[in-house]
Amino acid sequence: MNQLELQLKAHHLQNDPLGYLIVEAQIDDKPIADFGELAIDLHQFQRSSENDGEFFILTCWCGDPSCANIEHGIQVHHDSNNVQWRAKFGDDSQSYIFEKQAYLDAHQNLRRQAKELLDSLGMVNDGELTIVPIRNRPYLKL
Ligand SMILES: [Zn+2]
Repeated sequence: MNQLELQLKAHHLQNDPLGYLIVEAQIDDKPIADFGELAIDLHQFQRSSENDGEFFILTCWCGDPSCANIEHGIQVHHDSNNVQWRAKFGDDSQSYIFEKQAYLDAHQNLRRQAKELLDSLGMVNDGELTIVPIRNRPYLKL
């Protein structure tokens, strides 16, 4: 069984006064990608927690996976207790198995992190910290 964790992190780029709020994913305590360029798409993640299929859970900061040369999504399959991923991160195709409840909890934990962060910052406004991809915004606001 693999452990999935979603984390919310702020990234600051050189020569850019804005900060960016990125959802990152770790499997077994290792980031699944370079989150300086890529991000987790919470809309796709949400759908993958309810359905089987191919989901572009990993995407470019701009929200378009093809922009980051991601041609294939993650193949997600549910059985009664588990959620399975077949995915290619880098060169190797791998499969991962998560406990279904832990998969759902990962999203709930992220919402909690987001709420704490947004409460501590007050409002996230576009002058300081930007949520990317933009489509994550409704999933982080409570
Ligand atoms: Zn892009």
